[in-house]
Amino acid sequence: MPVDTSVLIAGAGPTGLTLACELARRQVPFRLIDGAPAPFNGSRGKGLQPRSLEVFDDLGIASQAVAGGRFHMPMRIYAADGYRDVDVHEGREPRPDVPYASSLIIPQWRVEDLLRQKLGELGGRVEYAVSLRELSNDGDGVSVVLEHADGRKETARAAWLAGCDGGRSTVRKLAGVSFDGETLDQHQMLVGDVRVSGLDREHWHIWRTDKGFLALAPLPATDQFQFQASVDPALSEEPSLALFQRIVEERSGRSDIHLDEPTWMSRWRANMRMVDRYRVGRIFLAGDAAHVHSPAGAQGMNTGIQDAYNLGWKLAAVVGGIDDTLLDTYEDERMPVARWVLGLSTKLHFSILATQRADQPRDEQTLQLGINYRHGRLTREYRTDVHGPQAGDRAPDAPALRDDRGEHRLFDRFRGTHMTLLAFGTSWAGLLDDIEREFHGRVQVVSIADGRTQDSGGHAARAYGVTRDTLFVIRPDGYIGLATEVADISPIAAYLRQLI
Ligand SMILES: Cc1cc2nc3c(=O)[nH]c(=O)nc-3n(C[C@H](O)[C@H](O)[C@H](O)COP(=O)(O)OP(=O)(O)OC[C@H]3O[C@@H](n4cnc5c(N)ncnc54)[C@H](O)[C@@H]3O)c2cc1C
Repeated sequence: MPVDTSVLIAGAGPTGLTLACELARRQVPFRLIDGAPAPFNGSRGKGLQPRSLEVFDDLGIASQAVAGGRFHMPMRIYAADGYRDVDVHEGREPRPDVPYASSLIIPQWRVEDLLRQKLGELGGRVEYAVSLRELSNDGDGVSVVLEHADGRKETARAAWLAGCDGGRSTVRKLAGVSFDGETLDQHQMLVGDVRVSGLDREHWHIWRTDKGFLALAPLPATDQFQFQASVDPALSEEPSLALFQRIVEERSGRSDIHLDEPTWMSRWRANMRMVDRYRVGRIFLAGDAAHVHSPAGAQGMNTGIQDAYNLGWKLAAVVGGIDDTLLDTYEDERMPVARWVLGLSTKLHFSILATQRADQPRDEQTLQLGINYRHGRLTREYRTDVHGPQAGDRAPDAPALRDDRGEHRLFDRFRGTHMTLLAFGTSWAGLLDDIEREFHGRVQVVSIADGRTQDSGGHAARAYGVTRDTLFVIRPDGYIGLATEVADISPIAAYLRQLI
């Protein structure tokens, strides 16, 4: 049966939008539908991690994100005898190899807005008020029934379906994938976006009391704060401005803090679950559809963005004719990350509850810079003596590269849809020419030390721990796929043929 489109993406949250951008910039035909009538306006995930900022750097929207957010917002933690200020990212400043070193506070609606704008520039759009209701998955494609807001039903067929439809995912349920874990009904939180008078906007204000926890975090470049407060599960009262105000007065002990103009109010229940499969035939699950966890540590939206970033280039390669076993590596690489994130956020969740301390320092783990695919099927580490990052690791940045385009960063050279060959030393000249000839346009070469590009500050050599002539193949999603010191074209060309 012929298909109407190559990829149908169900759900236009941060995960679906990232996937759509990845497909759009590779000219893969797709549809992106969302059952909601319009974009969601709540702040929800407000911590964008450095690794997600690197994804946005690749998409060309990192500077807009940074302009609409704030790094290093100190927590102001109140106690009976005053307060203390804590920066959980203290000392984490950009380095030559890590341009984004700490989480950016930015409301999720703005993150989605930036992705939607990018998608528009790339010629894509979200079809709102269209819900996926039924599906059947066969060897050649996925047939679906879509329901429009006016009740009209539409049948459609796509070669591939991506379920990016959130924690209650219809795609996951219809695909018969279980969602194992637990719902901790005793851990509930009220959340919302409100205007606040009586508090400065330079701090994330936090009170820990025997009645519970209260946080008011200013949302940068808005006049709003995100309200978060633990709540007794026995309380049946619906979220309301009056309830939020009462909690503020009870827990802060102050009568000079006034809330008004709420734009979003909700009650959150702790749900820690994940799937046991990311792929069922021609269906993929990504983001909250595949894993939900505590917001402690600010991981959910970020993990979804990176699921999509991992899946996007692989789907595009397969639509372009590469063997579809490449798509199995999506689950191989991303499921262990989801398992790890679930463990990390659950541990942090219980630790915050036990100690009532949200001000625990963040590390490489929560910043998601240390995530790697070292043990994945796409990883080729041919060196025996490794001094820096190894195959499967995130490919570091390096500033002060020079060539006829002037001074630039390594990330400028990675930006785009291509693979990059990063070569140090003079052993590679003929090999690089042959590869460029065979993979014209799909591979770009950064050749350091044979005179084509100068590593003027030595940052690239340092970041990659290079002491001998070494060649790295950098995947389109910014991970080192292959690393070798042997100037033999066969394994390198074979590797590239498998992927592009
Ligand atoms: C209070 C709170 C704080 C949080 N803080 C953080 C944080 O700091 N950092 C962080 O990384 N994460 C955080 N999160 C988690 C983050 O909000 C989620 O992980 C994120 O929204 C997941 O994105 P997603 O695109 O996978 O799913 P969603 O954002 O849930 O998007 C799914 C979309 O699918 C659509 N949809 C659903 N069913 C269908 C259907 N049948 N057909 C078509 N469309 C459908 C929905 O309308 C929705 O737009 C927080 C969450 C909460 C509640």
